Amino acid sequence: MPQQLPVVRCQRGGEYIALPRPSATTEERPQHYWPAGRQTLVLVCQDHGHTSVFKEKDVLLGLEPAEQDLPASRFWKVEFLCDREGCGQKVLAHARIDAGYTADDTARYLLASRPGLQCAENHVLTFKAQVLSAEVVSY
Ligand SMILES: [Zn+2]
Ligand SMILES: [Zn+2]
Repeated sequence: MPQQLPVVRCQRGGEYIALPRPSATTEERPQHYWPAGRQTLVLVCQDHGHTSVFKEKDVLLGLEPAEQDLPASRFWKVEFLCDREGCGQKVLAHARIDAGYTADDTARYLLASRPGLQCAENHVLTFKAQVLSAEVVSY
């Protein structure tokens, strides 16, 4: 039986992006990664650098054949500080991306996404945005 993988669909290109799954299945644990305490998941697709903002109800259980072709992809979470003067909002963004990307590569990729990362005050982050943390999600 093919495995049912938790995926979301890029809101601009429609391609499937697999979310990290728990390594060991337990009853209490959600079957996919979601950022702790957040209503939304900001995710940039690898194919086109599109920014999507998902709600948890957008997560589908579906086949994700492309993942077999991309065994070397990793799922990153990066937190930025909005670079608009005096703003100070933190912005959390994610990408599933080629395993060859470093934390710096991934941060730059996220900042180059279209239409871009926005803070809660709707400022679009520029390349001057400070990276507060960057890590590969293991769930
Ligand atoms: Zn896309
Ligand atoms: Zn801001």
